[in-house]
Amino acid sequence: MKEKENKKRHLSIKSSIFISMALLVVVMLTILWLTQSVFLSHIYMYTKKNETDRAASIIVDNVNNDNLDSLIEKISSEYDLCAEVIRYPGDKEILYDSHFLNDCIIHKLQLEDTLLDFWYDMAQENGGKYTDIVPRDKFREFYNPDDFHGDVPKRGGDANCVISINLATTSDGDSVMIVLNSFVLPVDATVKTLRLQLIVITVVMLASAFLIAYILSRRLSLPIEKINKEAKNLARANYEVTFPQEGPIEIRELADTLDYTAKELSKVDAMQKELIANISHDLRTPLTMISGYSEVMRDIPGENTPENMQVIIDETARLSSLVNDLLDVSRFQSGTQKLNISRFNLTESVKSVIKRYDKLISHNGYIINFVYDEDVFINADEVRILQVIYNLINNAINYTGEDKTVTVKQEVKDGIVRISVIDTGEGIAEKDLPLIWDRYYKVDKVHKRAHIGTGLGLSIVKNILLLHGSRFGVSSEVGKGSNFWFEFKVL
Ligand code: ADP
Repeated sequence: MKEKENKKRHLSIKSSIFISMALLVVVMLTILWLTQSVFLSHIYMYTKKNETDRAASIIVDNVNNDNLDSLIEKISSEYDLCAEVIRYPGDKEILYDSHFLNDCIIHKLQLEDTLLDFWYDMAQENGGKYTDIVPRDKFREFYNPDDFHGDVPKRGGDANCVISINLATTSDGDSVMIVLNSFVLPVDATVKTLRLQLIVITVVMLASAFLIAYILSRRLSLPIEKINKEAKNLARANYEVTFPQEGPIEIRELADTLDYTAKELSKVDAMQKELIANISHDLRTPLTMISGYSEVMRDIPGENTPENMQVIIDETARLSSLVNDLLDVSRFQSGTQKLNISRFNLTESVKSVIKRYDKLISHNGYIINFVYDEDVFINADEVRILQVIYNLINNAINYTGEDKTVTVKQEVKDGIVRISVIDTGEGIAEKDLPLIWDRYYKVDKVHKRAHIGTGLGLSIVKNILLLHGSRFGVSSEVGKGSNFWFEFKVL
């Protein structure tokens, strides 16, 4: 149901690419159509007007140039226009003249025509410049007919005339009027040709856009669909999945990450299965002992001895410590574990833990050395720190070497106390070092009864020390032994 709603609200990759490409093409084609068809004549007119203005300003700048004559010829041919430089108003005379257009308007003008006066006045009002664009067939209607006596050429009647008037003063002090005339020819024929081209371009662009969108969307969505299918398998706890390495780099990276996730999940799954096997084993052994000894004590007269009772008490203690470990782990996991911080004597705590091993020391020949200078006080949860020390010493005893020696060191430096628990046992391979703090992790895959452990001890140590915000770590060498340590601020 939710999936359906999502599908409604969000577009698929295919649709998004199709829509984006279509939008891009539409925007590009609109710009093309507007510039090449709809506004072509306006753009052309604007360009022509600018060109004429530019030609006029070149002539104005060179009005005192000795070679003005040839310059005007050159500019006229380059910009396709007619030009006249007239001494004006005063003693009216055409000083320079170029005649490049067949049907030029200004060459129909006579010096007496009052149109020249009108242009002159307009230019003066506009700071020495004036430009007019006049449809050639309306030339007469546009201006006062009496102003202009010449004929307006019939040919090319639908063109527009660009008239540019510029005023300047020569070095001789003469005022001159520079009159330029160019034509903006109709672009209808060009537009027609362009339109045909545009239709072809539009069809080709639309077709290629859809093709590219189709190829692109397939390239993107196919690998994602495959990854999605495999991810669903993974969600069904099928860890044998492989995610396809296809498509763009980001999708390949996603496939890599999911492959890694699948491997990690499968490891956790295997560890959990192993933990259940270990816990069942650890629970069953003391339970078997307890029920066996109880039955013997019930059924066989004389077997109700303190030694047999002690076995039952020891096995019960082992069971309860296992159950407590499991409870601790689940509390850390859910984040409900709170600390009860107080000031206490850490040195005394270490001593009290070592004291618990008195029996082991006297009966089994274990040696636990405690090296320290003075009593040290810290602020922490005493019960939890006792648990840390106990777990570390317990591991050291379990894993120590033939000499059965464990050394606990207390060192104080710069206001920091470090407790190190050192054994001379088999050590831990470097590749295992970062993993031993994980829940359920056991280096020795074969479950040895001699090493009573659930793989929870170090995970509990780590969680307690993390909650206190204290530094801790391990250094170990295979065959030589391990050194587990943690630090606290001395009070
Ligand atoms: P366990 O209950 O199995 O001892 P821990 O969490 O205490 O679980 O330890 C995890 C693993 O780290 C152990 O199974 C063991 O392989 C390794 N380990 C812990 N302490 C030592 C040590 N002092 N020497 C060698 N290996 C150790």
